[in-house]
Amino acid sequence: MNDGVSVKGNCFCGAVEIEVSGSPEAMGYCHCESCRHWSAGPVNAFFLWKPEAGTVTRGADKIGSYAKTENSHRKWCKECGGHLMTEHPHMGLIDVYAAVIPSFDYRPGLHVFYSESVLPIHDGLPKMSDVPAEMGGSGETLPE
Ligand SMILES: [Zn+2]
Ligand SMILES: [Zn+2]
Repeated sequence: MNDGVSVKGNCFCGAVEIEVSGSPEAMGYCHCESCRHWSAGPVNAFFLWKPEAGTVTRGADKIGSYAKTENSHRKWCKECGGHLMTEHPHMGLIDVYAAVIPSFDYRPGLHVFYSESVLPIHDGLPKMSDVPAEMGGSGETLPE
């Protein structure tokens, strides 16, 4: 279990280091067009945390930020271009990507924005059309 653990992760070059502690609010895969376009990947593995669960422990001055919409402030390392996290102010959560904290035990529970998917995944997990109702979405699920 992840409860009570504290794990460090870093950007691609290591200039920026992040520490997360406690338990994430949710873990899963995001298929939205914004995540795919920004990351240049077909799906993004996320960890959603309360903002206070994550701390930048090195290289805070090297973090760039871009918000295409007010819902998502995307952060990366200005040295290497490696992606770090996305702040979701309206949800009150931050996504420190699974790829950034590989030593944290990743146990995906759902897929979000599956209506925008380009990579169908048949893993038996719930496929949300957008996001669960408790995260401000429709709560609607789609077939795999
Ligand atoms: Zn870097
Ligand atoms: Zn997304």
